[in-house]
Amino acid sequence: MRFSSARVIALALASFVLSVVFAERLPAEAGEVNIYSYRQPYLINPLLKTFTKETGIKVNVIFAEKGLIERIQAEGRNSPADLLLTVDIGNLEQATAAGIAQPVQSATLEEAIPPAYRAADGEWWGLTRRARVVYASKERVKADHITYEDLADPKWRGKICVRSGQHVYNVALIASMIAHRGEAETEAWLRGVKANLARKPAGDDRLQVKGVYAGECDLAIGNTYYMGAMLQNDKQPEQKEWANSVKLLFPNTEDRGTHVNVSGAILAKNAPHKENAVKLLEFLASDEGQRMYAEVNNEYPVKKGIPPSDLVKSWGDFKPDPITLDEIGDLRKKASELVDKVGFDEGPSS
Ligand code: FE
Repeated sequence: MRFSSARVIALALASFVLSVVFAERLPAEAGEVNIYSYRQPYLINPLLKTFTKETGIKVNVIFAEKGLIERIQAEGRNSPADLLLTVDIGNLEQATAAGIAQPVQSATLEEAIPPAYRAADGEWWGLTRRARVVYASKERVKADHITYEDLADPKWRGKICVRSGQHVYNVALIASMIAHRGEAETEAWLRGVKANLARKPAGDDRLQVKGVYAGECDLAIGNTYYMGAMLQNDKQPEQKEWANSVKLLFPNTEDRGTHVNVSGAILAKNAPHKENAVKLLEFLASDEGQRMYAEVNNEYPVKKGIPPSDLVKSWGDFKPDPITLDEIGDLRKKASELVDKVGFDEGPSS
């Protein structure tokens, strides 16, 4: 192809003008932010929609059930990820240990999120809270309070259902036990709970509640929001029956408090839209963001003064264990080793 020199100059001029216009418009545009999310779309989409409406910032989300931390690691400097959304101190810690996080400094976030629910170094931030509680048979359990320690009492022999001891939810709970009672006592406790199991640990938290409904066990261990998720499950109405067969007991409300974990976020180390990502974090921790989270997820807000949903409120008040999740994170490895040591996942018979 041949162009006359006049044409080349004209084309070059036109593209120059275009690029100037584009460059001038960029700062005025709100831009975008990219999220990699382990959290399900229905839980976070309403919040992201509101954020875009209020700021003009477009939110792109990739959802996956696994592999996102590895993916950000593999993408390295070219990773488009700005934020990773996940649950549990175990996963947040895995992300920071993988070196894919960068600290966030934000007075707004520090003001909104209590120190127990964020990393001291700003590398992870809790956005919602959940308590790990006991689901007790309405029919067969008279008690209306319980402690985690009680779960090892021989009076519950063959009566307890729980998922794998190696699941992040249980590892954090066991880590909190180590923090309060020491390693030796926690090991003895874990052996006691194992002896009280009704069956080999398997399935998720909801299936343990189903176990109570079916009469296989009297107590199940599970996170609070599953009560809401089961009661509101129109697609699987049988779960409403499972939920209606149990009452929630918040362990240790009379002493140290009930074990609490979070869902949360990290800012990716190579975030291409860092400023927008911090804006989104601040929105999620704002009064409005926290209220929306509480309504959609049946979780507890991390921010003080924001009430949980009416349904969550109906389960009663509880006292959260004040221990920081950083401290629990540090004891996770020990907890996981104890689970193996006592053969917890082999179930009651071995
Ligand atoms: Fe869960």
